[in-house]
Formats: sequence, structure tokens, C-alpha cells
Amino acid sequence: MIYVHTPFCASKCIYCDFNTYVGREEMIDDYTAALVKEIRARSDSRLKISTIYFGGGNPLKLGVVNLSRIMRTVRKYYSVDKNVEISLEANPEDVNTSLLTECSDLGFNRLSLGIQSFDDKKLIFLRRRHTAKEAVSAYNVALEAGFDNVNIDLIFGLPGQSVEEWRRELKQVVALEPSHVSAYGLSVEPGTPLYAAIKKGNISIPDEENQARMMEITHNYLSGVYHHYEISNFARCGFECRHNLNYWLGRDYLGFGAGAYSCLNNRRFCNIFKPESYIRAIFNGGDAIAATETLTKEIRLAESIFLGLRLVDGFRVTDIEEKFHCDLRKRYELVIERLSAGNLLEADKVWRLTDRGRLVADAVMSEFV
Ligand code: SF4
Repeated sequence: MIYVHTPFCASKCIYCDFNTYVGREEMIDDYTAALVKEIRARSDSRLKISTIYFGGGNPLKLGVVNLSRIMRTVRKYYSVDKNVEISLEANPEDVNTSLLTECSDLGFNRLSLGIQSFDDKKLIFLRRRHTAKEAVSAYNVALEAGFDNVNIDLIFGLPGQSVEEWRRELKQVVALEPSHVSAYGLSVEPGTPLYAAIKKGNISIPDEENQARMMEITHNYLSGVYHHYEISNFARCGFECRHNLNYWLGRDYLGFGAGAYSCLNNRRFCNIFKPESYIRAIFNGGDAIAATETLTKEIRLAESIFLGLRLVDGFRVTDIEEKFHCDLRKRYELVIERLSAGNLLEADKVWRLTDRGRLVADAVMSEFV
């Protein structure tokens, strides 16, 4: 699988700590040229590519001509599956029917819309650039352009948000009938304006109890309509995001662009973060790797458990035991006992989080790290 990163955005959302920059549009063509060079330089026709994901930032900022150059390069230098899933992240204010039709013609067959909320006040607070009305219209535009696989991203646990308000958001998203919904709790990351405002006491987010309630409602409400396949992800059957599933199943991936991570043959490495430095490195030396980590058996085992528990179906113990030649039950005997007694984990032939465990998933998973 391939990930292509676009580090450009029109403005910065209050909570965003992604590797994205505002006002760097003048470097878009150079950035695309660097991407093309990197994709070509790391080509390996033995790698079978079944999913490609254009994320960011805002990939549409590259423009259709550049997206087409990148797509042509990937197809030329890699063995791309004929049923490849090609996802494109987009913000509601950026899409129109002709643009999305062109993207569909390039091969994009899955669209992920960063709607985040259907409440205008919340959208303003988040510093998003669209309104609730534009969000709905963007979704309809995607359908008109022929996308039958559309994800809607939502965030809960926003400042001032009540459980009832969040329930209304869920009703609104279900009424649109998208094929996929991702619903994440607001994450407060150091270095963001949101973090600073909370630290200063200028704003507060719902307390833990209310956040857990919102997550519980999300799981109960959406799993009545969709296949709940990962803690925060829900899909109509057959529309699960294959790209993200590959991550959760611990498969290798190639990441291109500034700050993109790759994982190949038990080695994880990431590119230089700043786009201008990334461009320079690619044109000077042909590679832009900033850091490399060798994934020991211990790291890979912990990550397999951690990622496997994100999946609602969990994982088969024998699969992990055969892969890592270990006795999982013996190794984690005390952890399993504790988590099972707390009704947080089902640990039989398959290990999976219980409904209760999913509400405190991070804490449960940290027990295995
Ligand atoms: S649109 Fe997405 S990537 Fe860009 S600033 Fe907002 S959250 Fe970050």
C-alpha cells in the first residue's frame, strides 16, 4: 500500500498537529516534482499495491494536473492491482462536481470528506472553512461525480458539546447514508492553539464521563446501521477502508512526501518533515529519510496486539503465536486475568475488546506495550 502526503492547507484548524503548512502554495509544483522523483527512485515492481491513499493536508491543493502526474508515476513504477482502492481526502469547501469527476477519471474511487461537524458554531470554533450546509452539499456533489464510496469524518467531545447535540450529529450523518463514517474523539495535542487555550483555562472540553457517554452512543447508534469494524470506524458491508485495514493488520506500507512514514521488511522510517527541506533533499541526494527504526520482534509483537485490538473482531491468538513463535497466554497471563476480570477483554481463541473495553481502549492497549 502507498500513502502520498500533501503538506499544504488553506488555514490551520485549532486542533491540528498534522504536518501541514499554510501559505506555501508557491512550492506546489516543486513538491510534486520531488514526489514524482521519490516515487520513481523507490520503485519496486515486486511490491503489489492494493491501496493508495492521498492524505494531508489537502491533496486537492496540488491540482488535477499534479495529481495526474503522481498517479501516472505510481502506475508506471509499481505493480498496481486492478481492483486498487484509491482514496482522496478532501475538505467540503474545495469540491465541485467537475473537479471530483476529473479525480474519478484519474482513478480515485474513495473520497474521505473532512466534515467534522454539522453545527456551524462548532465548525467556526474548530476553524474549519466550511458551513454545515456546504458539508451536505459537498457530500451530494461527491455522489453526482460518481463516488459511491464516501467517508464522512466527524469529531465528538468538542468544547460545550452536550451528549444530545452529539446524538443529533449522528442522526444527521446517518440520514445522508454515506458508505463509511469515521468518528473520533477530539484529541488535544501539545503545540496546538486548542491545547494552549485549554491550558490557559479559556475553554474546556466535556469531562471524561460525558466523552465516554458520547463514544458509547456512537458505538450503539452507528453499529445499528453499519458494520462497526474498528474502534472509530463504521462501514456498510464491503466498504470498510482497505487501506486502513492494512495498517491495522500490520502490513508493510510505503509513504511518500514530507514527513511520510514507511514500513518495510521490519524497518520503519520517516521522511524529513518540512516540505522545503524534503524537496531539497530529494533533488540533492535522491532520498529524504530523516529517521529509521528497526522493528525488533518485541516491538512487532506489541504492535500486532495493539493494532489487532483496534479491530472489533480482534485477532486469533494462534495467528500471532505462529508469527512470533511465542505463547501469548503465558506471556500476558496476569494482564489477561486483570482485563478479563474487569470485563474489558475477551481472551479466548480470539482476543477482542469488550464493549466496555472499547470505551477505554488506550488504557487497555497500554497494558500490552
Ligand atoms: S484541514 Fe485537516 S490537515 Fe488541514 S489544518 Fe485542518 S485538520 Fe489539519
